[in-house]
Amino acid sequence: MKSYRKELWFDIPTRRAFINITPDVEQCLKESGIREGLCLINAMHITASVFINDDESGLHHDYEKWLEELAPHEPVSQYRHNTYEDNADAHMKRQIMGRESVVAVTDGKLDFGTWEQIFYGEFDGRRKKRVLVKIIGE
Ligand code: ZN
Repeated sequence: MKSYRKELWFDIPTRRAFINITPDVEQCLKESGIREGLCLINAMHITASVFINDDESGLHHDYEKWLEELAPHEPVSQYRHNTYEDNADAHMKRQIMGRESVVAVTDGKLDFGTWEQIFYGEFDGRRKKRVLVKIIGE
C-alpha cells in the first residue's frame, strides 16, 4: 500500500472565508501516484473546517448568514470561552461545518458526485493555518 501526506498552508486576510481547495487536493493526488484508495482532508485547527459542497456564491453567502445566526461573533462577551480570546463563535462554526472530508479515489481521480467540491472554511483567520491531506491506496 502506498501512503502520501502533505500539509496545505493558508493565511486568510479576513476573519472568515470559504476557499475551494479542490485543485490543491487534485495536485496532491497526482503527486501521490495513487490510483485506487481513499483521500482524507482535514483542518488541523479547531476554528476551521473542511467540507464538501457546491461551489456557488449564493450558497456561501447563505452559509455565512446561517452560521452567524447560530453563533454570532458579536458580542464577544456572550461566550465564556472568550476570556483572553474572541473566537468562541469560530469553535462553534467549525463544529457545525465539520473537521474533515473523505473522498474515494477511483482510476486516479477524486470520485465526486456531480457538483461536489472541497472547501476550506476559515472562521478565525488572519494567521497561518493548515490542512492535512492523507492519501492511502495502490
Ligand atoms: Zn478559542
